[in-house]
Amino acid sequence: MIRVHRGAEPSDLSELRRVERDRFRAVFASRGFDRRELGTRYTEVKTLLWQRQDAKCCYCEKLCEDVGSDLEHYRPASRYWWLAWTWENLLFACPNCNRWAKNDEFPLADEAARLRPEEDPPGGEKPQLVDPAAEDPLDAIQFVLDAVSGRWVPRPRGASVRGAETIRILELNRQALLELFQRHVRQYVMPDVHRLQEVMRTGDERAVRDEWNRRVPRSLQRTASYVALTYDVLDHFFPENERNRWGLVLSRP
Ligand SMILES: [Zn+2]
Repeated sequence: MIRVHRGAEPSDLSELRRVERDRFRAVFASRGFDRRELGTRYTEVKTLLWQRQDAKCCYCEKLCEDVGSDLEHYRPASRYWWLAWTWENLLFACPNCNRWAKNDEFPLADEAARLRPEEDPPGGEKPQLVDPAAEDPLDAIQFVLDAVSGRWVPRPRGASVRGAETIRILELNRQALLELFQRHVRQYVMPDVHRLQEVMRTGDERAVRDEWNRRVPRSLQRTASYVALTYDVLDHFFPENERNRWGLVLSRP
C-alpha cells in the first residue's frame, strides 16, 4: 500500500451529495440501512478514481484491468451513510480487499469516540485502518522476508498497532495475494537485485550508481503493481548503510 492522491473532487459531486444525503436521511431513518439504496450512480466517480489511482487497488496495489463494481468507502457506508458521497471518503479498491475482506469493518482505538450521524470526520475518532489518501502507509506496514516460508509477507512496521490492524482487516496476508507478491518479486524485482549485486562486485562506484539510477526509479514508478513491496525488497538487499557507501538514494514511492 502506498499513498494515494485522489485530486480535486468532480464539480458536480457537491450537488449530488446534497440530494443523496437528503434521500438517505429519509430512507435510512425510517427503515435502517439498505445497501441497495446506495444506487448505481457511483460509476462516474469510480472511473475517475480508478484512473487517478493508476488502475490500482488502494489497499493491495493489485492492477485492476477494468473498473468493476466496487467503490470503496473508507468509513463504511453502512455505518456512515452521511459520508456515502463525501469525496474524502471514496477510494477505488479491488473486490477482494473491499467486499470480501474489509466489508463493514472499521474499528477505532476508542469505540466511545465513534461519530454520531451527520458529524464530520475525524471528530475524536482514531481509526485503526490506515487511510492511504491521508497518510503514508509505509509508516505502518513493512514487507519482510519470512525466514520459515521464504515468502515476502506484510508486517506492522516497528510496533505499529494500526499496521497490524490494517493487515488483519484487509486480510493482506491472504494466500492468493501472497502468491502474487511472490511472483512479483521473482519476476520484476530479483533480476534488478542480481544485476546490481553483480555490478557492486566489480567495485566500480560510477557503474553501480548508473545501474541503480537506470533501474530503481523505474521499478518504483507509482503506476507499477506492488510498489510498496518493491521498495522493501530493495531496502532489504541494499540497506541504508550500504546505499550510503555507494552514494545511492532509495526514495519512497
Ligand atoms: Zn485490493
